[in-house]
Parts: sequence; C-alpha cells; structure tokens
Amino acid sequence: MKIVNIAAELAPIAKVGGLGDVVGGLSSALIKEGQDVEVILPKYLNLNTKLLKDFKVYKRNFKIFEKRRWHSNTRYSARLISVKIYLIEDKKNYFAKPKIYGYKSDVNRFLYFCKAALEFLKSEGELIDILHLHDWHTAAIATFYKKIYSLEKKLKVKKIVLSIHNLKYQGHCKPKDIDNLGFDGRSLLKDDLLKDPFRPRTLNLLKGGFIFADKIIPVSENYAKEILSKENSYGLFKIVNKTKKKIKGIINGIDTIYWSAKTDKFIKYKYFEEQPLKKIIDAKKNNKKVLQKYLNLEEADKPLVCCIGRLVEQKGPDLIKHAILRSIKLNAQFVLLGAIFNKKIGRSFYNLQKALKGNKNIAIRFEHNEKLAHMLFAATDFVLVPSLFEPCGLTQMIGFRYGSIPIVRKTGGLADTVFDLDDKKILANKKNGFTFEKFSTSALDSAFTRAINFWYKNPNKCRSVMKKNMSLNFSWKKSANKYLKTYKNLLK
Ligand code: ADP
Repeated sequence: MKIVNIAAELAPIAKVGGLGDVVGGLSSALIKEGQDVEVILPKYLNLNTKLLKDFKVYKRNFKIFEKRRWHSNTRYSARLISVKIYLIEDKKNYFAKPKIYGYKSDVNRFLYFCKAALEFLKSEGELIDILHLHDWHTAAIATFYKKIYSLEKKLKVKKIVLSIHNLKYQGHCKPKDIDNLGFDGRSLLKDDLLKDPFRPRTLNLLKGGFIFADKIIPVSENYAKEILSKENSYGLFKIVNKTKKKIKGIINGIDTIYWSAKTDKFIKYKYFEEQPLKKIIDAKKNNKKVLQKYLNLEEADKPLVCCIGRLVEQKGPDLIKHAILRSIKLNAQFVLLGAIFNKKIGRSFYNLQKALKGNKNIAIRFEHNEKLAHMLFAATDFVLVPSLFEPCGLTQMIGFRYGSIPIVRKTGGLADTVFDLDDKKILANKKNGFTFEKFSTSALDSAFTRAINFWYKNPNKCRSVMKKNMSLNFSWKKSANKYLKTYKNLLK
C-alpha cells in the first residue's frame, strides 16, 4: 500500500509537539508492517538535517504559482531511519524561518505548502492509496484534491485520511488567500463548504478537511467522542456531527526505540523493565542525582514531579503553577520544561520563576530541549499533565515507559490511558496513576497530595507501580495496526 503523509512536523527533525511524534512514529511502524510510506514536509530553516540519510536535491526549479507569479522551489529527498522523506524548500522564505509556527503568514505559508505538495505528487504521477493529512496545516489538501486535482485526473489518490491532533486550531483565511494560489476562493464560501460557522466572510480549512476527507481520525477514542459536544468542537459542532460516521478515534503510540531507557543516549544510567526492581529504582535515583546537579537543585531523596509541554491554555497553566507551589508545601521537587507561545501566559510564568529564584527544589525552564526532556523522564517519579483538554497526550505514555507515575486530569486520551490507583471501581492490574476530574486547583490538589503521600508513605508499593508501568504497551505497533485496518477497510 502506498501511503503519503503530508504534515507540518516530523520528529525528531522538526518537532513542536505530539504531531511530530505521531507522524514519525506511525510512519516507521507502518514501514515495519511492510507498507510503502513517505512523508512530505516543508524544509524549515532549523531542520535537523544531520539526522537524515542520503539527503540530496531531488529536483531544482520546481515552479509554484502564487500571488500572480511563478515561484521557484527546490525539492530534496532523504531518509529518516527507514522513512522516505521529501522536503520542499521555497524561495519565498515562507519556511526559512527560525520557528515552525507563530507567524502572521502561517495560513499563507501552509496553503502554499499544500499546493506545492499536491503539485509535487502530480508531477511524480504515482498512484497513491492513502493520502494522510494532519491537522489544519494540511487539511486544505483534501479540499484542493477533491475540488480541483481529482478533476484534472493527473493525480490519482484512492482515499484521504485526516488525523485530528487538535481541533482547536482550525486555520482561517479569506477567499483571496485561496485566489492567490490560482484557485477560486469565493466558490468555497458556502455553508456546506468551507464557510466558517461564525465568520461569514472567512474560510475554515479544517472544516474543509471534515467535508472532503474520507476518514477522520482523532488521536484517541475518548477525544473522538469529546469532539462531538458543543463545548469541545470549537465552533465545528455541526460539521463534526454531520460527518460523525467518518470519525474513528485511534490512540497514538510512542516510538519505543526513541523513547527507551535501555538505549537512551541522553541519559547516564540506563535501565529496562526486565531488570529487578532494585536495579531500576537505583538507576532512576542516579539519574535524579545527575539531573539535580544539572539543574542546580538540592541533591536530596525527595519525590520529583515533572511537567513537560507547550505552555498554552490547553495545558492548564494555572494548575501547573498551583502544583509548583503545592510541591514546596509537600516537600517534593518540581521541574517544569515548557516553551512559551503566549505573552500573557509567559509573563505569569516568568513572574513565578522570579519569585522562586533561589528555591533549590524548583526548576523552571522555558525552552524546547530534547535532551533535558529525556533526562527528566529518566529521573522523575511523577509526570504531571493537568490539561483542560488533551486529544491524546504523549508525556504520560513516555512517562510510563521510563517508569514514572502520571498525575493527570481525566480528559481526552489521558482518560483512555491513566487509571487511578485509589479508585475501587478499577481493576487492580489496570491502575497506574492518579487522576482528577474537575478543572480546578482543589481537584488537582487532591490527586497531587495523594501522589506525594504515596511516595512517602507507601514506598514499596510506589516502586512496584513504577516498574509495572514500564511494561505497559503503548507502542506504535498496536496503534499502527489499527490505522492499517482502517486504511484497508477504506480501500475495500
Ligand atoms: P502536544 O502535542 O499538545 O504538544 P503531547 O503530550 O501530545 O502534547 O506531545 C508533546 C511532545 O512534545 C512530547 O514528546 C514531549 O516530550 C515534547 N515536548 C513538549 N514540550 C517540550 C519541551 N519544552 N522540550 C522538549 N520536549 C517537549
């Protein structure tokens, strides 16, 4: 089966969050299942090309029409482990920027990329079984293919799949932005097409994805149910419910080779699940000491809580701040690693960092730091994910793999993967963490306090849960097989 992924991110060469992990992990897992998979990605300025093999120019001077002019582009080919990759470099400087997202021109940048990717596939002339799109950045491809390219008959795609990693980001533009590509934007401004439900003169690119994709895959089963509600569909309630039959949730996996305490090049003391409990705990303790030194924390045997994620509203910034303060009271250590995307949220965290300066039990880092993320997973006892909503969530799963215990709000994929150790209704062998339901500081407090008390008062049980969590199977193999089954059903 020929599967082409078109996406804005691909871990580890271009990653902001989970989207990148998914595109990378799913592609390699599908290749292991014998499928022919490739990924098309913009060539960003800071793309980590050192990690690529056979990186070379594939075609120069590939022309794309935009804003009444032809623009020259270069296409590169490479391999990332076993995944075939094509990178599109534009001479307009849409992608030669330091960040992947966060520019005023984001919508134009990704619309341009959508057209360039389609033109690229058209020029290759291969028959594609599954064209797999990811979030709003590439959702417009479903519209362009069904409305334009499929009519030209030069590009043959059997089915289009759209993964929903986050429904909140939808990609809004004006008809003229589509006109700029040489297509007819105004013709899409209709209720049953891309017209935004709330802004009558605006097009909604993700809405187009729901209409024109053949299958919609939210990244967990629970999230697939949640997005059917008014509250969680972010204005797309009508179209999501209208296309309900096409929606099927599949939980993400994690790349178990990349995330492995046995081989992780970023951690000093390696460990693995088959080892005796003491060995695992000792390795984690040693990694904790390395981390404490690295972050200038007190070198004490205390419970450690880590939170790793984008500092945006979705991730519950107020609850994270509350947990940081709470950990001081409960004699725990806390490390926050999060990049800032929003000035207001950023300011409040900077203020907290300033107020806690000199506190040897708290470390707050505002950056994207792959190495530190690995060091944290290997050292930590607890991983905190207090999200307002969470389509799947990867850090709780990566945390399991490194023998830690999650403390999460029961939402989206977190509710599909974390089961409370104190909940009598849950089977003992399923229990693996601490959960809370209400999005409030008091609900967080109760789960957070139970977790820290568990570490102090019930150390043996706590350690055995940590070891057991390492054996939980959230590998891509399982999820990739679900994707494969879905693809096959679509092609029947
Ligand atoms: P989202 O996709 O909403 O950003 P996920 O939990 O699904 O959240 O995925 C986040 C991924 O990004 C995880 O692999 C996590 O380790 C990583 N990550 C998030 N923030 C950082 C950071 N500041 N530094 C390093 N890795 C990060």
